[in-house]
Amino acid sequence: MSVALQNPPLEKVALETYVAPAKPSLIGFSRAELAERLGSIGVPDKQRKMRAQQLWHWMYVRGAQDFEEMTNVSKDMRTQLAEHFTLARPEVVAEQISSDGTRKWLLRLPSGHAAERPHEVECVYIPETDRGTLCVSSQVGCTLNCSFCHTGTQRLVRNLTAGEIVGQVMVARDRLNDWIDRETPNGNRLVTNVVLMGMGEPLYNFDAVRDALLIITDGEGIALSRRRVTLSTSGVVPNIARMGEATGVMLAISLHAVRDELRDELVPLNRKYPIKDLLDACRTYPGSSNARRITFEYVMLKGVNDSLDDAKLLVKLLKGIPAKINLIPFNPWPGSQYECSDWEQIEKFSEYIFNAGYSSPVRTPRGRDILAACGQLKSETEKLSVRERDALRAMAMTD
Ligand code: SAH
Ligand code: SF4
Repeated sequence: MSVALQNPPLEKVALETYVAPAKPSLIGFSRAELAERLGSIGVPDKQRKMRAQQLWHWMYVRGAQDFEEMTNVSKDMRTQLAEHFTLARPEVVAEQISSDGTRKWLLRLPSGHAAERPHEVECVYIPETDRGTLCVSSQVGCTLNCSFCHTGTQRLVRNLTAGEIVGQVMVARDRLNDWIDRETPNGNRLVTNVVLMGMGEPLYNFDAVRDALLIITDGEGIALSRRRVTLSTSGVVPNIARMGEATGVMLAISLHAVRDELRDELVPLNRKYPIKDLLDACRTYPGSSNARRITFEYVMLKGVNDSLDDAKLLVKLLKGIPAKINLIPFNPWPGSQYECSDWEQIEKFSEYIFNAGYSSPVRTPRGRDILAACGQLKSETEKLSVRERDALRAMAMTD
């Protein structure tokens, strides 16, 4: 066995780099950064804070796409801003609308070199009767290689910037005509919740995700309540409490298995941060309570993790943690080695958990006809061959 196989990476290490465009977009800067940028184009010190606040309002409350819309900013200032900056969001290259109303956008991000393959992510809007949830990506591809996940097969990986993460919310509001002055019969907003459950592992892109969440939940801008924003992680233990402290958002854990041996295989990061450490981090997650429960995601894989013994152990493990359990029917993708559990088995599993006192909704797959459901997000440009995928898995297993 080669040295590489003896010490294989759990994570893909070669991250692509982000190359900022010559004229940067102001989306994604904190207020302090905005003020600094204004300083760089000659706005006097004493005006910067006020100007930054004006921009913030136009960008995040009104969704301005052009500096010319900013009627309370002087004409000179608008011209100057447009000379140096943009209000660009990620470019929408495709929009698909499912028969159930789910929408998926394929977004192209700058890759730096014209000849290179484009960097793309997907973002999904799921309307429900009482809410509208936007599922946002945090990386192009994913640093990790969970064996049941389509995104994990993607080789090209790059961290999104804070602007590209916030930009997904902006794109959704633009496309849905969902900014403040939207005319609707009842005036309700369409995007009411955000989940970081798209492509990528958000806790491996810590700073950008934190900065983006602070913007999304800022009360004078997009203003989503922190209770309506959920970050899902496969279990990057050291970053869980840090993210909770910095942002106060809700936490979801991709658990999927109750024994280390199986979780090592499904979620290879478990070799680094085993179940016990992960659950300890949940027990101390800042602000968790019965009113703010942690969601445990559990993908139902036929004959792999769906027995009643698994259900029993799950209940035992979660004892003492304010928890909700979200059962996700496995979404197969071409080349995947698993099958979804039978419906009867999912019901039995769910019933056991329910009787033990947990709410255990089975997540109905949405947008199946447009491949928008959980775990199916993956840009077409970067597929691994079956052989490459097997090699990658073999490497992760020998770690
Ligand atoms: N990387 C993060 C967030 C993105 S994945 C994480 O792993 O938590 C969002 C959810 O979809 C996770 O719970 C993930 O495990 C699940 N998922 C991935 N592939 C899936 C598939 N093929 N079928 C069903 N759920 C899947
Ligand atoms: Fe990455 Fe999450 Fe998919 Fe695992 S399940 S490969 S962490 S996106």
